[in-house]
Amino acid sequence: MAYRWDPWRGCHKFSEGCMHCYIHKGDERRGVDTSQIVKTDKFFAPVAVDRKGEYKWKEGLVYVCFSSDFLIEEADPWRRQCFSMIQSRPDLTFLFLTKRIQRLAQCLPEDWGDGYENVIIGCTAENQVNCDSRLSVFMDLPIRHRNIILQPLLESVNIEAYLKGTELVVVGGESDANARPFDLDWARSLHDQCIRHNVSFDFRQCGTCYIKDGQRYRLNPYALSSKALEEGLSFTAQIEP
Ligand code: SF4
Repeated sequence: MAYRWDPWRGCHKFSEGCMHCYIHKGDERRGVDTSQIVKTDKFFAPVAVDRKGEYKWKEGLVYVCFSSDFLIEEADPWRRQCFSMIQSRPDLTFLFLTKRIQRLAQCLPEDWGDGYENVIIGCTAENQVNCDSRLSVFMDLPIRHRNIILQPLLESVNIEAYLKGTELVVVGGESDANARPFDLDWARSLHDQCIRHNVSFDFRQCGTCYIKDGQRYRLNPYALSSKALEEGLSFTAQIEP
């Protein structure tokens, strides 16, 4: 079972990858001010119970803060309570992505230790400069399950120095009408880097503006995932004997 948990919403653009942020675009259409970071009425969703006193959410994966960034500054007063709910539900696995990984150490609860077993953290970066600055910090943090999210990726990057301890690398292009170009060679290179280090790799989506073998294509935004799948670049890490 998969669930989505948005304890708060709203965000500020943070780096180059945020240019076509889908949250900002959706809010603009609805007349919502994205810069207001507000708690939602789903704040206690992971510990909500039914009339029998049983948790409404049964075991499964919880996507956390996909309408914000879990580490955004304005949520500092609320995050400890979230960690406490996360810690109380070992039957659920919580996944959050962040561009603000440099803030993680100051945001962790006292009992975090080497990381909660039921938390996966995805560090997001879009170019080499941000890979170097964020992933170098990410790899030294106490995290049990770490993913690297390169979506949208804006240029070719080398992340081999940061792959130790990583469970999964996700790569994708932009899906916006004004998307910046995404070159298949970038995904091919990352696929090879992951194989060399036995890290699972997922080419999740092409870009709307897609370059393959020197040819530029305009792709249907709804076909980006299926087109990526056709390239056959997925790789599952081999379990060491
Ligand atoms: S950090 Fe994420 S949610 Fe926030 S503006 Fe950037 S892309 Fe959007």
